[in-house]
Amino acid sequence: MRQLSGVLQVNLTAIRANWQLLRSNFNGDDCAAVVKANAYGLGVKPVVRALFSEGCRTFFVATYDEGVEVRSLLPDSVNIYVLQGCAAGMEFRFFEANLIPVLISFDMYTRWLGAASGFPAEAKCALKVNTGMNRLGMSLAELEVVSQDRAGLMVAGVELLVSHLACADEPSHELNHKQLLSFELALECLKITLPNIKASLVNSAGIFLGQAWQFDIARPGIGLFGGVEASGVPKFSNVVSLYLPVLQVRGLCKGESVGYGALWCADHDMRIAIVSGGYGDGVLRSLSCLASGWFNQEVPMLGRVSMDSCVFDVSALAEADCPREGDLIEVIGDHRPLCDVAEQGGTISYEFLTRLGGRLEKIYCE
Ligand SMILES: *Cc1c(COP(=O)(O)O)cnc(C)c1O
Repeated sequence: MRQLSGVLQVNLTAIRANWQLLRSNFNGDDCAAVVKANAYGLGVKPVVRALFSEGCRTFFVATYDEGVEVRSLLPDSVNIYVLQGCAAGMEFRFFEANLIPVLISFDMYTRWLGAASGFPAEAKCALKVNTGMNRLGMSLAELEVVSQDRAGLMVAGVELLVSHLACADEPSHELNHKQLLSFELALECLKITLPNIKASLVNSAGIFLGQAWQFDIARPGIGLFGGVEASGVPKFSNVVSLYLPVLQVRGLCKGESVGYGALWCADHDMRIAIVSGGYGDGVLRSLSCLASGWFNQEVPMLGRVSMDSCVFDVSALAEADCPREGDLIEVIGDHRPLCDVAEQGGTISYEFLTRLGGRLEKIYCE
């Protein structure tokens, strides 16, 4: 016996297929995987294991702690890059943990260089250059200074140049071209001293901008999890399904309201299903009155999403087909695509996935 709780089903076969789809559209050597934020909320351990067994040999995370966790799942030969770089004083810990920082500022590079000369073996790092997103990365001018010190680059172990696209999901945005030009300039400048340096510019959507943007290493994240939708991007396999169990089915008479704020009021007699799962589980409150679920057919959501529950109109189902206590209503899945539901809630798949809560039971299927 167990209590009824929401179920988050993660299809690892679909993640493998999505990685293969990304890889087959990428002409560089190395299609990596970005598994930051607990693999976009889906559980880093099973996701990393599935991708490694599929052949993925390069991983990106955001922070040192995430890197340590991913490192514990993988052989030493697999490269793990930490996108937010290395905080002051953490240099030796990165070296010991066999994590490669993506150095995001001139100061961070200088500190790394200072520390790396004391490492007992070769250091490894990546440099990030700002090409127009203006979030992280050193400027082109700073990169030029760095690139003139060949001995420094060797000691620091610079092996990869990284930048990040701001508008990859809008193929016609002019910034895509500007960023490409700046990135090419930065790379040329480094290649004078480091002819074998590798380069990485694209995220999931960026892969589909065309070969010019692709370089050596791709860094897809959301595409692995089926959450990317943009023109020119093929259809990814659905990875995530969210099912919420029915706690109670009840009648609602004409004139009665349901839920907080009495926001929704019945204009005829109805039958409603109350399910376990609300904004405490990541079912956004902004979906109130907007979303619908699926139980053999579409069942509209009524009233406000509460912390632990929400309500669906099951009046359209014949009494015999009505859900009963314990039956599962699909909120995300094959009938309720993640991107559509995220958009209904006023957000994007990335935020939706990373908010899905710890109270949900995660089931992995292959
Ligand atoms: C998160 C992230 C990615 C992955 O982007 P997706 O849009 O999820 O494919 C790639 N590069 C950097 C620097 C990131 O922060």
